[in-house]
Amino acid sequence: MHILTLSFDDGFKRSSLETAEIFERFGLSAAINVVARGHLGEPDEGWHKRWPKGDFGLWNELQARGHEIMPHGLVHANKSELPFAESKRLIELCLDVFADELDGFDASQAVFAFPYNASTPELRAWLPDVVRGFRTGGEPIMPLPQPGQTKISCTSFGPEPCDVHLERLVDELLARRSGWLCYNVHGLDGEGWGPLSASTLERLLARLHERDDVRLLTAGAALDLCSS
Ligand SMILES: [Zn+2]
Repeated sequence: MHILTLSFDDGFKRSSLETAEIFERFGLSAAINVVARGHLGEPDEGWHKRWPKGDFGLWNELQARGHEIMPHGLVHANKSELPFAESKRLIELCLDVFADELDGFDASQAVFAFPYNASTPELRAWLPDVVRGFRTGGEPIMPLPQPGQTKISCTSFGPEPCDVHLERLVDELLARRSGWLCYNVHGLDGEGWGPLSASTLERLLARLHERDDVRLLTAGAALDLCSS
C-alpha cells in the first residue's frame, strides 16, 4: 500500500481552479492550502504578488466540489524567523479567518501547512492543541499514517519546475513495500515557486489512479485512515 499526498500551496486562482479540474477528472480530491489574507495581497512580496490569489468565494466553491482547503498562514510568514508568541498569534488569527470565511471550518480537524515548510519545536509542540495536524519540512516518505499522528513531513523543489523531482520521489515511493509520500506543490505551468506542469500532473494521476496499490489522498483523508 502506498499513499501519495500532493499538497498545493499559496492559493493561486488560476492554478487552484485547474488543479481542482484535473483531480476531478479522476474522481479525486485536491489538497489546497491557502493564505488567509491571500486575496488581500499577502504575501506582500513582488515576486509573489504577480500571481492573483483566489478568495474565500472560490475556496468555498472548491470545498463544495469535494476538495480540501486548509490554512497556510495569515500572511505567509516564515515562522522559524519569528518569536513563538508572534507565530502563535498569526496562526490563531489565521484560524479565526478560516472559521469566519470557510463553510463548516473546524480548526480541530484542520491540517496547518507551514509556509516555507518552516516550523520550530515549540510550535510543533503547541499546534496539536489547536489543530488536528500540521505539515512541515522533513523526510518526504513516511510510514503509512499512524494512530494519533499529528506531524506530516514533506519536501518541495524550486524555484525551477519540480516535475522531475516529484516523479523521482514517486518512483522512490513505489520502490518501497509501503509508504506515504507527502509532496508540497505550488502552482501549475509557471505560477509560483517550483511550478508543476499541468500535463505532468495529469499524467501522474492517470498512471497512479489505475494502480490498486496506490491511493491518492489529501492530508486529512490520509489521517482519516487511522481515525475511527
Ligand atoms: Zn507558501
